[in-house]
Amino acid sequence: MIERLCVIGVGLIGGSLARALRDAGFCREVVGAGRNPAHLQKAVDLGVIDRYETDPGRAVAGADMVLVSVPLGAMAAVFSAIKGHLAGHAILTDAGSAKGGVIDAAREVFAGVPAFFVPGHPIAGTEQSGVEASFASLYQGRRVILTPVPETDVQATARVREMWEAAGADVVEMDPVHHDAVLAATSHLPHVLAYTLVESLARLGDDGEVFDYAAGGFRDFTRIASSDPVMWRDICLANGDAIQLMIEHFVADLNTLTEAIQNRDGQLLLELFTSARDARNRFVDK
Ligand code: NAP
Repeated sequence: MIERLCVIGVGLIGGSLARALRDAGFCREVVGAGRNPAHLQKAVDLGVIDRYETDPGRAVAGADMVLVSVPLGAMAAVFSAIKGHLAGHAILTDAGSAKGGVIDAAREVFAGVPAFFVPGHPIAGTEQSGVEASFASLYQGRRVILTPVPETDVQATARVREMWEAAGADVVEMDPVHHDAVLAATSHLPHVLAYTLVESLARLGDDGEVFDYAAGGFRDFTRIASSDPVMWRDICLANGDAIQLMIEHFVADLNTLTEAIQNRDGQLLLELFTSARDARNRFVDK
């Protein structure tokens, strides 16, 4: 049970956790923080938070659990703003999509990664953002990856695990470097590809005529290109090395496919597409 949860960044991710924990009866009070009072008032009106502060330092006062769910580029500034204001028993966690940069920011701001900081990442979301997009069942049956470092207190990690489990999630622990490599492959590369495909087609110079003839396949493939550009800029900056490696790997495979098309190599094309279809079917069945 959490007495006072403070959510800094009451959007899709933070708002959904607050809703889930309220529904589960797992927290008594939720205090929100962000930059825009109108967004925070909306969160109050929707019953996601009880009250809000626009100063993160004031927001964390007396909270026993603090979730930072702002874009990655804003994490360091939020850590600086709450430094010195956290309660003695407070546990700090985050929801950032790449972990190395957040851990570095915590190390820098707090002069060492604090024992009470438990880095985390829920593997759940939609292409929508803002508190209006949040919903209580977002984490039901979804994975949350915690990436504690050697400095992290084991009890703090256990508390954060309990919180996500109360929201319906299946919690695993992973080394942060491994997390960033895995997510570069499974999440960051697909987003980069979706954005690039849409942008590339949009620049064909035919006033968008190509989109008039796009069907379900295009819609399915490009859904994630509707995601928040600020969030994805920050992820590409924070996890640039791992994403670049994945792009290089992908470009090599794309070159193989291009050669197969150039050479009218039907056998190779059939092998590639069959192998890919089988791999996707295995993923979907799982
Ligand atoms: P979101 O819906 O846009 O919410 C972000 C919230 O942060 C907004 O309520 C915004 O409120 C606040 N905010 C933005 N910049 C801020 C700043 N400089 N200082 C203080 N507050 C700020 O985004 P989200 O999808 O919830 O993502 C939040 C975090 O979760 C990101 O780190 C993202 O990488 C991670 N994440 C996202 C997903 C996903 O699929 N969306 C999945 C897993 C993890 P104001 O505009 O009112 O300040």
